Amino acid sequence: MTQHSFPAITVVWFKRDLRLQDHAPLQYAASQSAPVLPLYLFEPDIMADDHYSERHWRFVWQSLLDLEQQLKTVGAAMHVSYESAASFFKRLAGQFAQITVVSYAETGLHCTYQRDQQLVKLFRELGITWREFAYGGVVRALKERHQWLTHWHEAMRAPQQTPALQTMHWLTDRSLVMRLPKALSEALHRPDKAMQTGGERRAQDTLQSFIAARHAQYHRHISSPLNSINSCSRLSAYLAWGNLSIRQVYQAIVTPGRKLPASLRAFVSRLHWHCHFIQKFESECEQQFRHINSGYAAFPYREDAASEQLLEAWQTGNTGVPMVDACMRSVAQTGYLNFRMRAMLVSFLSHYLLIDWRRGVQHLARQFLDFEPGIHYPQFQMQAGVTGTNTLRIYNPVKQAQDNDPQGEFIRRWVPEIAHLANEDLFAPWQMPPIAQMSMETPVPAPYHCPVIIPEADIDKHRELLWKWRERDEVKHHAKRIVKRHSNPQR
Ligand SMILES: Cc1cc2nc3c(=O)[nH]c(=O)nc-3n(C[C@H](O)[C@H](O)[C@H](O)COP(=O)(O)OP(=O)(O)OC[C@H]3O[C@@H](n4cnc5c(N)ncnc54)[C@H](O)[C@@H]3O)c2cc1C
Repeated sequence: MTQHSFPAITVVWFKRDLRLQDHAPLQYAASQSAPVLPLYLFEPDIMADDHYSERHWRFVWQSLLDLEQQLKTVGAAMHVSYESAASFFKRLAGQFAQITVVSYAETGLHCTYQRDQQLVKLFRELGITWREFAYGGVVRALKERHQWLTHWHEAMRAPQQTPALQTMHWLTDRSLVMRLPKALSEALHRPDKAMQTGGERRAQDTLQSFIAARHAQYHRHISSPLNSINSCSRLSAYLAWGNLSIRQVYQAIVTPGRKLPASLRAFVSRLHWHCHFIQKFESECEQQFRHINSGYAAFPYREDAASEQLLEAWQTGNTGVPMVDACMRSVAQTGYLNFRMRAMLVSFLSHYLLIDWRRGVQHLARQFLDFEPGIHYPQFQMQAGVTGTNTLRIYNPVKQAQDNDPQGEFIRRWVPEIAHLANEDLFAPWQMPPIAQMSMETPVPAPYHCPVIIPEADIDKHRELLWKWRERDEVKHHAKRIVKRHSNPQR
């Protein structure tokens, strides 16, 4: 018989919920008599997944340091380990007679789904109890959306679940440390000033600065790649990694009797979209691998050798189309891009280059500091136009630049090699007459006088193909199913 060192323990397993306030698993743990172990696992298999890059784990690490500092004030400590969940819990089962694990239910990628399936089996063998709590307004195993909106409003208005940390019974053990392999620890400690810094307290500051002043131009600046940096909330990474709950943000803004200005009304509708999209992915996670509308299965995307070069030009910001390149270079450095420009990048990939969205979806996941599978996949499919239910939007990158960066500041910042061009030439340099190019002191560099595709040349053909395909019976048939399953009848 195994001799256990301790009788019982409640493990609060933090994943994408790196905060101490409004945290249902923590609240539950506080109500139990067993000592509480706050845990985070850097899982090698998840870290190696192609959707993730170092920027994500640095943000997580910064968030954990913030938790550690806060926990220290109540005599508690985080336990952070670099190992698979299975290996960690097997070890723990050797030390404790009774283990309860509490965590948020994760609407994640296939890799976390598989891990969870294995853990359910392992926990059964080891006699570990696992209690999962619902995330935001998302409902597990939801069959249809009939009452979903009502449920979402109830979840947003419900009292926050913040336990009194100082009265909790923490497991205090010298072996509780934040230990990572040296190389990883060094990489994560290296600051990256161009990116947002993770942490619950940073998240709170960002929320407060948005409410106090930054929101004023929200709805006017939302499509501008430059102005959105200040006027949008910039809460996405904090929400994606759970430094804030969606309810905390909602309740900080929507208070009884308060009439919201247009800017904040527009903002609150995005909070609803946040959960709406995650619910879509929760209900149909196969979206990670296939078009949600199977009518697009045979769509004639380019697959020739040249498409590899086009894809590479798109990924590295070297297409020769200034707004596309500026966006791609900017997000690579900063981890952030506003909604319109994200949509334009996907549209350029799928509609202009005619490349299957699945070949680009992981690249942008690695770039977005706020990568959230439940938003990323349904948005990617929607912008690629493969749902058959949403209006097909083809974003012209030249028009987007003229409308949303009229002075060319964003383009000049990120594509300095063409900064000398006059505004009328900056957005589509290939349209400059050869004689004008020849008379320039600094010539227009490649590929800007000869981009990988001339946007205006092929798009009519592609547009016709996309619209015709949408009219197919098979697409319409699946569109009906999608509307029935995912759309919200209460809207
Ligand atoms: C192809 C594509 C991929 C995307 N991938 C992600 C992703 O991985 N993670 C992510 O958080 N957002 C994603 N978005 C949605 C959106 O672009 C970002 O949420 C937003 O730009 C983040 O900036 P913000 O926090 O300043 O947003 P704000 O405009 O201030 O909005 C507040 C919050 O509402 C939510 N939100 C805003 N817009 C949307 C939207 N269109 N759909 C769903 N939720 C929204 C976000 O949580 C955001 O933080 C994607 C959009 C597209 C077109």
